[in-house]
Amino acid sequence: MNYRHAFHAGNHADVLKHLVLTRVLAHLALKDKPFRALDAFAGLGVYDLDADEARRTGEWLEGWGRLSAPFDPAVEAVLAPYRAAVAAVQARAGSERIYPGSPALIREALRPGDRGVFVELHPADAEVLRGHFARDRRVKVMQLDGWTAVNAQMPPQERRGLVLIDPPYEVPGEVGRLGTALARAVAKWPTGIFLAWYPIKDMAAIDRMAADLGAGLDRPALRLDLLIDRPDDPTRLNGSGLIVVNPPWRLEAEMLAVLPALAGRLARGGFGGFRCDPLGAPPT
Ligand code: SAM
Repeated sequence: MNYRHAFHAGNHADVLKHLVLTRVLAHLALKDKPFRALDAFAGLGVYDLDADEARRTGEWLEGWGRLSAPFDPAVEAVLAPYRAAVAAVQARAGSERIYPGSPALIREALRPGDRGVFVELHPADAEVLRGHFARDRRVKVMQLDGWTAVNAQMPPQERRGLVLIDPPYEVPGEVGRLGTALARAVAKWPTGIFLAWYPIKDMAAIDRMAADLGAGLDRPALRLDLLIDRPDDPTRLNGSGLIVVNPPWRLEAEMLAVLPALAGRLARGGFGGFRCDPLGAPPT
């Protein structure tokens, strides 16, 4: 377990993932019924952009750092929950040099009856995570294997909510594993909203996973890709994507409004691109 998210917090991949996460959370909060959010690969929870790790890579400057100038109003309307959650976490910390991880974004969306379950395998990181949420009774932090949690904790008692699957991709074949684990979890909780993140290095492997998953999935799903480089070099991170199973009904239109703007703003060498494709069964 060598992956450290502190080097990458706030990069283009976090922007896509956290934008979609906060939109889905906003959707869940529209109804009066409680929801549960399971973050199966949670990380540290909160990141300091002035810390040595973030300074060394400077990745956030090409992600969150490029969002400081506003977009046009239609794009800003989609970004609003993301910007509001980041601002709330920064206000809580008393610093604009803080960038939230997914657990902190989830916490901002929880109402009194909602629950956040944050799973992190790395013992030291799980301890830091626990420290951030120790006084919040809506939150449970578990030091556990995220793949096990995604399988064992389905369905949650609330029967409403989301699962974020955001593994570090340190071992070969993890893209395939994502598809298999996702299909199994959806079979156990067919009405849950699942967000499964993947890095875009080898596009052929992503296409295979998406095709296999789509062929067997009897729930609606979206594939959302954000490319910041031409996907022609499998040795570098050309972008990232999310499979969203049971997407809120407006998510596709929202993403079609925001992804072209993000691709333009975050493009690295003049090339930016995106995909927003249905996968699996049509919406019911
Ligand atoms: N979701 C976080 C966010 O958006 O802020 C970032 C998570 S980071 C990409 C992946 C995390 O998974 C790392 O903190 C790593 O220590 C942890 N991890 C690695 N293997 C794991 C496993 N088998 N189960 C749970 N966590 C794991």
